Amino acid sequence: VGDSQDYDREVKSVCPFCGVGCQISLKIKDDKVAWVDGIDGPANEGRLCVKGRFGFDYIHHEHRLTKPLIRRDDAPAKGLNVHPDALHEFFREATWEEAMTVAAGGLAKLRDEKGGKSIAGFGSAKCSNEEAYLFQKLIRQGFGHNNVDHCTRLCHASSVAALMENVGSGAVSATFNEIENADVAIVIGANPIENHPVAATYFKQFTKRGGKLIVMDPRGVGLGKYATHRLKFRPGTDVAMLNAIMHTIVEEELYDKQYIAAYTENWEAQKAHLKDFPPEKMAELCGVEAEELKEVARLFAGAKAGMIFWGMGISQHIHGTDNSRCLISLALMTGQVGRPGAGLHPLRGQNNVQGASDAGMIPMFLPDYQPVGEDGVRSAFNEIWQSDVDFGAEKGLTVVEIMDAIHDGNIHGMYILGENPAMSDPDVEHARDALAKLEHLVVQDIFLTETANYADVILPASAFAEKTGTVTNTNRQVQMGRPAVPPPGEAREDWAITTDLAQRLGLDWTYTHPREIFAEMKMGMGSLNNITWERLENEAVTYPSLSPTDPGQAIVFGDGFPRPEGRAKFTPASIIPPDDVPDAEYPMILTTGRQLEHWHTGSMTRRASVLDAVEPEANCSLHPKTLRKMGVQPGGMIRLSTKRGSIVTMARADRAVAEDMVFLPFAYVEAAANILTNSALDPYGKIPEFKFSAVRVEKAEDA
Ligand code: SF4
Repeated sequence: VGDSQDYDREVKSVCPFCGVGCQISLKIKDDKVAWVDGIDGPANEGRLCVKGRFGFDYIHHEHRLTKPLIRRDDAPAKGLNVHPDALHEFFREATWEEAMTVAAGGLAKLRDEKGGKSIAGFGSAKCSNEEAYLFQKLIRQGFGHNNVDHCTRLCHASSVAALMENVGSGAVSATFNEIENADVAIVIGANPIENHPVAATYFKQFTKRGGKLIVMDPRGVGLGKYATHRLKFRPGTDVAMLNAIMHTIVEEELYDKQYIAAYTENWEAQKAHLKDFPPEKMAELCGVEAEELKEVARLFAGAKAGMIFWGMGISQHIHGTDNSRCLISLALMTGQVGRPGAGLHPLRGQNNVQGASDAGMIPMFLPDYQPVGEDGVRSAFNEIWQSDVDFGAEKGLTVVEIMDAIHDGNIHGMYILGENPAMSDPDVEHARDALAKLEHLVVQDIFLTETANYADVILPASAFAEKTGTVTNTNRQVQMGRPAVPPPGEAREDWAITTDLAQRLGLDWTYTHPREIFAEMKMGMGSLNNITWERLENEAVTYPSLSPTDPGQAIVFGDGFPRPEGRAKFTPASIIPPDDVPDAEYPMILTTGRQLEHWHTGSMTRRASVLDAVEPEANCSLHPKTLRKMGVQPGGMIRLSTKRGSIVTMARADRAVAEDMVFLPFAYVEAAANILTNSALDPYGKIPEFKFSAVRVEKAEDA
């Protein structure tokens, strides 16, 4: 961290970590980031968390990729489990010309010999909007299908499925800052103090001025300290609990009859369905007293303005879409949408997961969630692209499905930009085995990741502080990321690498700057109406923006929904048990998540010196009583085993975790959480059930 006076220049940009989208000022000394300050962005008003303030020096880490790499002919067979830091010996340095020839040549060969569908692409929510747009365009135009996805599939895919189905839009209906105008708020299945820390500061302020906060989570998350009601329900019983709350609202006639009549459909079916969920009947299943469920129902239904926030505790279940359907129904029946202080807000995870999804880097939608199945939509994009490639009406495969398709012999090559499926996929040994089977894998990244282990060609890319591009945060705010330092060595901006690859695959792309890509995006994305590159160079703009001077709409759906007749829909949800339930052999429940200091698979934050110093070691958390029963001291080593595999990690005592549960962060390669997790999918969002696996916990043999 530098001296606060000692810098050559400053560059304003956006934090690269979470979906809050804090604006930052990078202080540059000798072409290096010396330190970072928060500035007055619409989402953060100067605030930063520890990641945004101290998590930047990975940019200058000695492990950065500086030259293209090609797998050596004498490298061991793919699949050997090697730590990323030791991977260099498997590769040799190459010129860009040679590396791009091999990268494009391998993809083109598979396309020409085995068909375009033999290739799939994973982009990244760390990409800018322009990069995400180009990536999906490359897969569709270059290979003629829709097998393109990214980590939204592991994050809020089920939330988006429910939102699209029931309110007609996959984005938040109100910014999180709108909590300032609420008097009651629910936060469910989310841990904002660790995962959306700056948003959490607004939630805390809300309680300080008298707002009533209801926190619902199987774990005792930190925000619970500020709550008037704290419901530690049993994992996987979300639908039962939420239906019981809605049952009370119906029974006590607390619902908003006028709102339901004016703005919704299917209410009678929802009302009838809820009859089967009286709190007295659901209480034992959920582990929450019936009276508390009723109190929460009365409190939320009686709010003048109420908001609902949720995270991956809701979405990462095989019933994730049903969980979100319940939350949407709760907001609709109480009329808590489309007004100041009222709304639905899935807290988006990655800095640009909203924008990457908006840009169409998903297998079922083109940009702006326009279905690939509609002929008119496909032809409109082909007109914009001046292309006649038929990429088909068939929805593409999702993240987990692509790994299965490799095992089934249907996919033989991949282009992976900034994703790390060898760490992030559920049942990760299955995913690693799939990656090892690929005939040709092109990886584009800033470090040698676990996924690079399986690459044939590695293309060195740029970190956020080295490139230009727009990003869209959880609030729908589009903001400009600016280059502050040069990329190391021969590393290049991602949009430029993708463009080069496209040209070598025979596409006539001519982009010379991200602003040209943004201009093309606007041709097919109504959400960007009135938002220009020039505006974004000077201000953040929230979409939708109604005029060239409108800063954008913090709240949407005030006058109806983008659905038939402007009506939102109630979709009743029934109880579906988790896929992998505890039994005698695996008697406890495993849940996974993030820690404050580390980001996802750790490739950035474990190379950020301050963050790594604070949290250097793989760990998991159990209740102190559980540890005592096992004869394990805090700091001792334990073995966690599921039907998929086994890891050894350090145990921490944490009273927030229920006695029959284990909480396991997923950032640590040396004890990779996803060796244990289940790849069973929600049928609508195709999201895996990261939040619930049956697990056996033992003292490690050598502890
Ligand atoms: Fe960055 Fe999120 Fe922290 Fe803000 S809250 S500084 S966006 S990690």
